[in-house]
Amino acid sequence: MRLRDKVALVTGAAGGIGREIARAFAREGARVAIADLDQDAAERTVAELVGEGRQAIATVMDVASEAQVEAGMARVIEAYGRIDILVSNAGVQRVCPLEALSFEDWRQVLAVHLDGAFLTTRAALRQMYRQGGGTILYMGSVHSKEASRLKAPYVTAKHGLIGLAKTVAKEGARHGVRANVICPGFVRTPLVQRQIPEQARALGISEESVVRDVMLRETVDGEFTTTREVAQAAVFLASFESGALTGQSLVVSHGWFMQ
Ligand code: NAD
Repeated sequence: MRLRDKVALVTGAAGGIGREIARAFAREGARVAIADLDQDAAERTVAELVGEGRQAIATVMDVASEAQVEAGMARVIEAYGRIDILVSNAGVQRVCPLEALSFEDWRQVLAVHLDGAFLTTRAALRQMYRQGGGTILYMGSVHSKEASRLKAPYVTAKHGLIGLAKTVAKEGARHGVRANVICPGFVRTPLVQRQIPEQARALGISEESVVRDVMLRETVDGEFTTTREVAQAAVFLASFESGALTGQSLVVSHGWFMQ
């Protein structure tokens, strides 16, 4: 078991990619905290993990709320006594051309991705510094490296996470803290499922064409990335044993983006 007795808090872990990462961490022996807006779904994920004999708790948290992040992190530290791994994963998407995008939507996407990453990072670092180490993973995207039409705030936020990770890597090193970014290609979660009809309408093409010609066109094999593949990358980065791997971004995209 590569994460035996580690404590991991995963945001946005009630569903999608975050849930799969929490499951993979728990299978590797970690005690996990499922942090999400959606309390019922978070409790379902916890029940599933506990049913498999794993250790898991739910904590309700809007990552864009300073008070909720502080309270949620305190609950996890109270329950488990420490925090070894933070996965800042919660995210939302808005599909809209720039000239029609409302300021409110712009701010909401930036708030969930960037304010959320900052607030959870700050809360986790305070505990990690006290205990002398830890690791932080940010859920970036191929959109941390590339732009696509109709996704300005998302692309902006995902690029920003790379800057935050590099800064955390530099400031955290002397405290034994590493920080890295995972950059998945398209994964067929509810976040992407919702975009298919939205993009079809915005681009005036069929839903099949959105999948084939927009989402998967540049992959080497025409395949979606899976939640399981992203979770494997998360286990690898979280369990890496030295400071050699920090400040990096790992693209998991079936070759859509090659660096
Ligand atoms: P999803 O919509 O399936 O799940 C997102 C989860 O985050 C949900 O459980 C939701 O309740 C939670 N959430 C949303 N806003 C929140 C908030 N303010 N506070 C706490 N929880 C909140 O999405 P997903 O596809 O699993 O995406 C997870 C992450 O992966 C996001 O950061 C997303 O940008 C990123 N990502 C997704 C893809 C993809 O193709 N699906 C690709 C690259 C990166």
